[in-house]
Amino acid sequence: MKVLVINAGSSSLKYQLLDPDTKEVLAKGLCERIGIDGHIKHTPTGKDVYDADRYMPDHEAAIKLVMEVLTHNYYGVIKDMSEIDAVGHRVVHGGEEFTHSVIIDRAVMKGIRDCIPLAPLHNPANITGIEACQDVMPNTPMVAVFDTAFHQTMPPKAYIYAVPYRWYTENKVRRYGFHGTSHQYVSQRAAEMLGRPIEELRIATCHLGNGASTCSVKFGKSIDTSMGFTPQDGLPMGTRAGAIDAAITEYIVDQRGYSGKRVESALNKESGMLGISGVSSDFRDLEAAAAEGNERAQLAIDVFCYKVTKRIGSCAAAMGGLDAVVFTAGVGENSATLRAKIMEGLEFLGLKMDPEKNNVRGKEAIISTDDSPNKILLIPTNEELVIALDTARLVREQEAAVKED
Ligand code: AMP
Repeated sequence: MKVLVINAGSSSLKYQLLDPDTKEVLAKGLCERIGIDGHIKHTPTGKDVYDADRYMPDHEAAIKLVMEVLTHNYYGVIKDMSEIDAVGHRVVHGGEEFTHSVIIDRAVMKGIRDCIPLAPLHNPANITGIEACQDVMPNTPMVAVFDTAFHQTMPPKAYIYAVPYRWYTENKVRRYGFHGTSHQYVSQRAAEMLGRPIEELRIATCHLGNGASTCSVKFGKSIDTSMGFTPQDGLPMGTRAGAIDAAITEYIVDQRGYSGKRVESALNKESGMLGISGVSSDFRDLEAAAAEGNERAQLAIDVFCYKVTKRIGSCAAAMGGLDAVVFTAGVGENSATLRAKIMEGLEFLGLKMDPEKNNVRGKEAIISTDDSPNKILLIPTNEELVIALDTARLVREQEAAVKED
């Protein structure tokens, strides 16, 4: 089976063609600057990369270009688009309606549209990506996989904010959580790597990239997570503030004469690691600047690590203990220094980092000492694979149901 995975942003479109049964990636790529001018980088497995400026006025043009390169006689990996059995779309917000991945039909499109107020930047882009694919491949089944769905198992005590209850019932204000496919994938892999059933494990998953969140995965289910109503809640991130005292917004409006929108933009784009350091939102730049003696870069790293450490502690409290901590995403997969700093002081939870084993990048590894009562793991995330697996499962179930009829 061949599944095309699409992750559409407002001006970009990431894609991957893979076989969910063998987990083999046939090709992946990125279309950027859609609607501006256009650039594509197409990486077919085992062949030369195609990297070119190509005009893409809209997402449909981008999808058509993806088709062109996938079937190209030199850069291509398939002869014909009919070889693609299904398309899996990443959708950021599924609200309370979508607790699982679903086959896309009219009702599902309406449901995704209804969630636009909850994710005004992301869901419209995702819808554009789905519609562009439907236009180009009208007979290919499509599946929506939601960033929020994995967290729909959280109990009310974890997702209700202590604000007027009608904000929840009338305005849908609650914790939703994001990075769900990533937390789901790495917790499942952790159970496989530890050779234990996920139903008996309490795992704190730390997705630490440009966006960052932790999740308490108890017996295979998300019971709490650090991101909230939006991906702004929880940990400080590359340019996002994370959780702050809500009164700061009004105070800055008064003190600096900003509009509410301006404050929100600053909390989203000028805060986090960039805001503290004044250097960069990228942890590589921060580590380099800190090594040269830049105190604010060091402070940004210290704040980030301290908050992640505290979150791991709160995961343990939420789950009544923990058996494993998992690091994933850009920082979690690549920075041994940050992982070590985060784990400092967590020995009391039976988590002993092995400095030698921690000296690893971008590949699966158990990085705690052999005698550590609980385990620390590094697991590169693979959201595309989760999307492809869910897509294949749902399409096969539907085909089987049609046959039974
Ligand atoms: P992601 O959002 O998962 O793609 O992660 C992107 C972030 O990972 C970048 O902003 C970098 O800060 C971080 N990153 C990637 N490689 C490294 C590295 N070798 N050391 C530290 N941070 C890294």
